[in-house]
Amino acid sequence: MTKIRTRYAPSPTGRMHVGNLRTALYAYLIAKHEGGDFLLRIEDTDQERYVEGATEIIYRTLAETGLIHDEGPDKDGGCGPYVQSERQKQGLYLEYAKKLIEKKQAYYCFCTPERLNSLRSNVNGEEIMKYDKHCLSLSDEEIKNNLERGIPYVIRQNNPTTGTTSFHDDIYGDITVDNSELDDMVLIKSDGYPTYNFANVVDDHLMGITHVVRGNEYLSSSPKYNRLYEAFGWDVPTYVHCPLITNEEHKKLSKRSGHSSFEDLIEQGYVSEAIVNFVALLGWSPEDDKEIFSLDELIKAFDYKHISKSPAVFDMVKLSWMNGEYLKNMSEEDFFILAEPYIKEVIKKPLDLKKISNMVKTRIEVLPQISSHIDFFEELPEYDIEMYTHKKMKTNSENSLSLLNEVLPLLESTEDYTNDNLFAILQEFGKEHEYKTGFIMWPIRTALSGKQMTPAGATEIMEVLGKDESIRRIKIGIDKLQQ
Ligand code: GLU
Repeated sequence: MTKIRTRYAPSPTGRMHVGNLRTALYAYLIAKHEGGDFLLRIEDTDQERYVEGATEIIYRTLAETGLIHDEGPDKDGGCGPYVQSERQKQGLYLEYAKKLIEKKQAYYCFCTPERLNSLRSNVNGEEIMKYDKHCLSLSDEEIKNNLERGIPYVIRQNNPTTGTTSFHDDIYGDITVDNSELDDMVLIKSDGYPTYNFANVVDDHLMGITHVVRGNEYLSSSPKYNRLYEAFGWDVPTYVHCPLITNEEHKKLSKRSGHSSFEDLIEQGYVSEAIVNFVALLGWSPEDDKEIFSLDELIKAFDYKHISKSPAVFDMVKLSWMNGEYLKNMSEEDFFILAEPYIKEVIKKPLDLKKISNMVKTRIEVLPQISSHIDFFEELPEYDIEMYTHKKMKTNSENSLSLLNEVLPLLESTEDYTNDNLFAILQEFGKEHEYKTGFIMWPIRTALSGKQMTPAGATEIMEVLGKDESIRRIKIGIDKLQQ
């Protein structure tokens, strides 16, 4: 059996869109599931769409997500260069286009932009341009003359106008189109660069790609790619077109939606592993209903035949849930590395940030939620004494006042402000007075935090706040309740 070789072939046009990340992931998983090779090829032939720095984003994102390529611009595997602009400079695409011209499967086209514009027509509100093969009838002499005179040209594929073309996609099945629908697409542009349509076929063949994985927006062009493979006499690779990704409203996920790229999601406090896990499930599902997968588990489980044709919904609620699961299962050390910048945004006082981090670890789904859980540590918020009333704990503003007055001397007389010690003292106090734990802790915690919900109990909060600040806040509580 031949070794599986897949590639991720991004165009450096900006941040890595989740659709691109999924393509990269699926290509990686298909290769690794079978012990094959995963290649990176930079498709930078569209000079107008090129964005400075975008190639670095691609490298960084692949490294952060763990999609390590076996071959690429930085890892020669004998099929280089792996950057299309460099391949173009070697004259590679023109050489192959000329082979097609010899076989009468392609031709020079010298039509002016004005002439091409006149071929545009409006079909059902959509502007289309189907080339009329005008230049196919040029004589060899005319072509030679035009080339010598330096008239700008493109090279077009010569597609038949009758009959049908069929191809097979492993996800979408057998697809047949009428050749009358096939446009004579441009292979080499007037700037000498190849189009994606041509370069992808030449490069996938020369790089020995066995499985072409990409978004289904390329499905409709695949008959034309097939004709190119056949014209060259090359084996057609296995096509794996992945389904559309939509937002919750079932509309195509747009760049403007704000959560469409890997980097957007990282900035919004999602972790790389959760994003990868979530993206893996955008169009693929395992046989059982397992949802949490490490990358290694995905490699084992990934049978690409289970990729679905139906659009996948990018469900933020699910992503957030999944992210929360990753945060919960992380070690406290790893979580602290991620949480520290968010904690430091809120906490300026010299408090034990590690303890605060541990408190919130299991309580959030995304990192920016940290601040609302911990802001009271920095400063006691204004709060209403209504908060002391809790039905289940049987507390109200009157009994809370007397309770705080009773525990204050106890808390003042201890120096050991560890959670364990404080808890033991208050337990003892409860036993003596026959108070239930909640009856004691609710008023104390309210006085310490001014909040209904806190990420930890009263004694843990005191441990972080320290003696002076804890006493100060309890006295503020007493004052408020006395008024
Ligand atoms: N350069 C294409 C893109 O970024 C790649 C498509 C493919 O995977 O073949 O959309």
